[in-house]
Amino acid sequence: MLASASLMDVQMLRDRAQARYPEFLDVLEAMVNVDCGSYSPEGVNRIADLCEGRFLDHGWEVERQPHDGEPALGDLVIGTLRGAGGPDVLLVGHMDTVFDDGTVARRPFTIEGDIARGPGVSDMKAGLLAGFFATHVLQDVGFDGFGTVTYVCNPDEEIGSPFSGPVIRELAPAHDVALVLEGARANGDIVSSRKGITDFTITIEGKAAHAGVEPEKGRNAILQAAHTILALQGLNDRWPGVTSNVGVVRGGTRSNVVAERCELHVDLRSPELAALEEAEAEVQRICADPAVPDVRITIDAHGWHRPMEKGEGGRRLVAIAVGAASELGFELRDAATGGASDANTTSSAGTPTIDGLGPIGGDDHGPAEWVDLTSIVPRTALLAAIISRV
Ligand SMILES: [Zn+2]
Repeated sequence: MLASASLMDVQMLRDRAQARYPEFLDVLEAMVNVDCGSYSPEGVNRIADLCEGRFLDHGWEVERQPHDGEPALGDLVIGTLRGAGGPDVLLVGHMDTVFDDGTVARRPFTIEGDIARGPGVSDMKAGLLAGFFATHVLQDVGFDGFGTVTYVCNPDEEIGSPFSGPVIRELAPAHDVALVLEGARANGDIVSSRKGITDFTITIEGKAAHAGVEPEKGRNAILQAAHTILALQGLNDRWPGVTSNVGVVRGGTRSNVVAERCELHVDLRSPELAALEEAEAEVQRICADPAVPDVRITIDAHGWHRPMEKGEGGRRLVAIAVGAASELGFELRDAATGGASDANTTSSAGTPTIDGLGPIGGDDHGPAEWVDLTSIVPRTALLAAIISRV
């Protein structure tokens, strides 16, 4: 078995990743040149076909779950590779992008120097493929020192994983570690913690009245909203790293009518679960205590993502990654970010998790999105090394 931490092994992994680089690039081009926005199930399923085929070609068992419901989404593809014994490793990558149909025709995959561009190249076709190629590389060198590697290819991450999230949450606890393959950040950092997010829709109901004739009969929902907004914005930084943003205000009908209704959309984030729960309770308290008499305030809360906290398991994974990177000849750091991913799901299910293990890229969700092609081989080798050492 080649599980030891010697320099030789890492170089072998790198050599194999290098040998597979032209194939990686071909598949990357093929995948980027498919319109596969979350709401384009046919496109996502073309990516799912490529993933399923690759699993089958390399000895994985595959389970493909079609999505049932509205809106229509692509299939969930889960591969399982059985080893000779050892830790159970969960890999998570997503197949969807944020781009509408027609984007590929306007700006297909291109390479200029060491930079590849195209819709989803960094977020996250390169990372999705790193998961495949890292395991191909381990198979190439005959490494099978794991119990199972389970690879979840998610069709709906960009809309908050409504279909795949519950499946990932259920799978995570059966695994010793979760490695999430979103791209490394533009400076090369991997991600060891992410904020949790709770979205609120707050509806304020007052009473309409003629604003000039008998305003005293009215109860102004917008006036109440103003008080509520100030209180909600006041939650910023009351706990370390907590952010509270009222991002949408919708209310009133005409200037001569006391506003009957006002709706607020609020994004609350926290790096730590305890602070998130305290802040959530504070939102409830603010809304339970209106300044305008007789208004009714209702709260609809959605906690899509719990925080990904670093913890002991995360620290150990970072140490493994940093050690392997240094043997590969580069310095690696980990970072915290305010954005959420499937790593929030695996981590809050109790499975030690690190993220940002794909190749280096940036400008995600925009037309300038890029991947650094020189990072593909080292990051694929790094991921293979991490899988072999957990
Ligand atoms: Zn994204």
